[in-house]
This record gives sequence, C-alpha cells and structure tokens, in this order.
Amino acid sequence: MNLPPMHRLANSLFFRVSTTFLALSGLFAGGYFLWIENVVTSPYDDDREADWYEHRAEGELDSLAEEVVAALREGRPADELIQRYGERVDEFEAELVVFGPDGALLASSSPDSLSAAVRTVDAALLAAMALPGWDFASYPVAEDIDAYENRIFQVNALADSTRAEPALGFLAATFRPMVIGAAELESSNALLGRQTLLVKVLVGMLIWTALIALFILAWTTHRVARLTGGVEAIAGGDLNVRVTDASGDEIGRLARAFNRMAKRLAGTVESLSAKEQFQRQLIANISHDLRTPLASLRGHAESLEMRFENMDAEQRRAGLSAVMNNVDLLQKLVERMLLISRFDTDQAALACEPFPAIELADEVVRRCEPLADDRGVTLDLSAPDDLPLVEGDPLQIAQVLQNLVENGVKYNRAGGSVTLTLRANRTTVDFVVQDTGIGIAPEDLPHIFERFYTGCDSRTRGQGAASDLLSQNSGLGLAIADRIVRKHGGHIAVTSRVGEGTTFTFGLPQAGQAEPERTRAARA
Ligand code: ADP
Repeated sequence: MNLPPMHRLANSLFFRVSTTFLALSGLFAGGYFLWIENVVTSPYDDDREADWYEHRAEGELDSLAEEVVAALREGRPADELIQRYGERVDEFEAELVVFGPDGALLASSSPDSLSAAVRTVDAALLAAMALPGWDFASYPVAEDIDAYENRIFQVNALADSTRAEPALGFLAATFRPMVIGAAELESSNALLGRQTLLVKVLVGMLIWTALIALFILAWTTHRVARLTGGVEAIAGGDLNVRVTDASGDEIGRLARAFNRMAKRLAGTVESLSAKEQFQRQLIANISHDLRTPLASLRGHAESLEMRFENMDAEQRRAGLSAVMNNVDLLQKLVERMLLISRFDTDQAALACEPFPAIELADEVVRRCEPLADDRGVTLDLSAPDDLPLVEGDPLQIAQVLQNLVENGVKYNRAGGSVTLTLRANRTTVDFVVQDTGIGIAPEDLPHIFERFYTGCDSRTRGQGAASDLLSQNSGLGLAIADRIVRKHGGHIAVTSRVGEGTTFTFGLPQAGQAEPERTRAARA
C-alpha cells in the first residue's frame, strides 16, 4: 500500500499512542488546574457557604426584607429580626444592616464589626443598589477600597411592592471586613510562593514525562515496525529474513519466536522441495531401471518374431532364454521396489524364530558360488562350531547376507576374495562380510544405503550384459538390507578403503536375548 506520508503517520501506532498519551496528559493537567482554580483558590470556605452565597442569600434576604417592612409598619423595632438572621449567617462572614430612608443606620447584626462605625450611607447610592442590574463587583467608593459601601453584595429597598409609597429604608448585606495581620500576610505570601514553585515543578515534570514517554514510545514502535517488516517479508516469500532484537521483554521474545518460526518454515519448505526433487529422481530412476531390460526384452522378442522361421531349435531356445532372463530381471526389480515401499510404509512383517546362523550363511555362500567362480573370486565362510542360535526372520536375513556377499563379488576383481565371518558377541551374533574389492569412495559411503544410490561412477562401473541380472546396478540391494536389519533392531556398519576392500557388519540377537537387544537398539 502506497499511502501519502501524512496518512501513513496518522495510521501509525506511534501517532495513535502518543496522541492518546498527550491528550490524557492534557486532560490530567487541565483537571489539576481546574481543581486548583475551583477548590484551592475558591472564595468560599466550604460547600455550605458557597451554596448560601450562590443560591440562598438572595431569596432569604428578600423574605427578611419583607419581615422587616412588616415590623417597621407595626412600629416594632427591626433589631431582633436582624440579630436573629445575622447570627445564622455569621458563619458565612456576612453582616446585615438596616438603614433609614435618609441613609442613617437603624440596626446592625454585628455592632462590633466595622459596620458599627458606619453611621450614614448615601441614600441615593442605596436606592440605586436596590434596583435590579446593579453591578456589585464594582467599587462605589473608588478612593477607599476598604469602604463599607464597597463590601455590600445585596440591597433591598424596605417597601411594600403592592403599595405605591416611599421606601421605609434599606436592608444591606455586606461581607465582613477582612483583618489580615502582617504575619498572616507573610505566611500566605510564602504559601503562594510555595504553590507557584509546586506548579512549576509539576509542569516541568509533566514536560519531562511527556518527552521520556514519547522517546520510549518511538523506540517501542520502531521495534514493532521491524517485526512487521519481517512478517511482510515472509508474506512476500523471503524466508531468509530474520529480526535482530536481543531484548528480554515481550517484543524481544516475539522477535526470537518469529526467527524460530521463520527458520522452521524455511526448513519445511526446503525439505518439501527436497522431497519433490527426490520424487522426481525416484521416477527417473525407476524409468531408467525398467527401460534397459524392457528394451532388451523387446529386441529379443522382435528378433524371434522376424527370424523365427529361419532359426534352428538351438537359436530359438537361446532367444527365449534371453527373453526369460529379462522378464526375471524386470520381475526382480519390481519385487524389490514393492518390498522397499512396504518397509517405508511399515507394512513389512517379520516372521522371527530362533535359527542356526551358520547353516543360513552356508546356504547363502553356496548360492553365490556360481557368480564368484564366474568372476574368479574366492568365497570363504568362517564360524565357531558352538555359535548360539540367533533370533530373526531367516528368509529376510538370508536376503541381506546374499546381497552383501554378491556385492562383495560384484565390486571385486579376479583373484580377490569375499569372507563371511560369524562370531558370538556378548548377547548377539555378528555377521561380517569382508571383501578385497575396489572399495567405496568416502563421498559415497554416507549414501550407499539410500535407495537407488549407485555411487558417483558405478552406473557404468558394474554394468554388464543386460541378461546378467547381477550386473545391473539398481541401487536397491543395500537399501533393502538396511531396512531389514533395522526392522530386527540393529544396523549395518560399513568401513571401506578405496582399492583395498570393504567390510559390512551387523548383529542379530542371540535366541532368548531378542527382547532386550531390540529394546536397547531402539533406545540407542
Ligand atoms: P547395486 O549393487 O545394485 O548398485 P546396492 O544397494 O547393493 O545396489 O549398492 C549400492 C552401491 O554401493 C553400489 O552401486 C556400489 O557403488 C556400492 N557398493 C555396495 N557394496 C559394495 C562393495 N562391497 N564394494 C564396493 N562398493 C559397494
């Protein structure tokens, strides 16, 4: 997505978290200053005082004024009414004074206070103050801010509103004068100074916190952005991307988990492509191995068909026998492939029983003698007479031995030898097939048990006439032998020196030891 830079910034985690943080800090700071404004520097001592001045004073003073009017009309003095109400509002630092129509003081709620010193107030001023719309925040006596008139916050004209008659006087409500001593002034100045410092420190701390928080945010979002880059690279197919983050926190752990995941993903993809490559190779090998005997088979069959009438009995028999040899070869190849796939899918079963290894080895050697004679290779069997019985599937073990001995002959030279040695070990009987042949190149050794592996140059090396079954290198013999021995709980070991010979060794459990041996092998 190619978004414009501003849009990208607005969509970024950094922008969103930092604006949220700044908004919250602003709210916090605003709330704090509002609190200072409203609570700490409030003109009222408490909620009751605020409630009286803000909501109740006007109504109550109006009713008081009406009561005073009634009293004056009846010729009663207003002192008692004023005194009583004065005591109620004394806690709010308020005072009440009744003036006559000429502005002379008639009664006062607190004769001790400064208002007691007031004898007269300008009646015209009082009349003006009693009218609606007077601004009590103004100073009527500008030259003396402590003047009584300046502290008045409500004036009621003492007159019956239903009758058109001149006012009997005025009811004035004032704030009590504030008496501040020098020491008090000093301490409140110091308090003010401390408060200013506190506000400065708080603002400073707020700025620093914001800066540090923004730095941490930028660092964190940068790391998250790196991880996002990694994930996007993987999504784009680059499996080699890794994120470096050595930190031990959650993002660091996430980065390491991401790297592990990427590595495993790369490994899986690699093994999948290796598998695919292997499947392709497998099909190519199978086709190759089947094609040669098939072509030979076809050649012999065609020649028989074309020249059948002109052939004598001997020639016909030779042709048919060549056809049969190739059919045998094909059958053997297909059987081997089937067998190996049965091992690979774990469908091959063993028919284990105790059997004398020496008899089995003798039979295998005898079966291989014609081939060995053919190649000028001598075969030897060496085993002690008291060799214990072994536990295993004799048919399968015979196949393993035959394959090893035949290989010893195949990859030998005239005059060479193959020795099959049997010897008792602690709980096993070991089978050792040693030849004096051409040996196996070190680079081939790790691969010879893989199916269809025939060595770097052996496809041409042992290739003989198509009719010679053993000359065909299928690369399946050792793969099958290895699977059979593994199924018995052991494994085939091999050592070889090029030009000197090769030795294959595997062990089978002695009869009665089968279970422990197999378990040990499985554990190993
Ligand atoms: P094949 O003999 O049909 O090729 P194997 O699976 O039996 O298949 O052997 C695999 C390969 O291992 C052979 O092609 C050969 O290169 C090598 N090899 C096996 N046994 C020997 C041996 N005794 N001496 C030298 N090379 C051997």
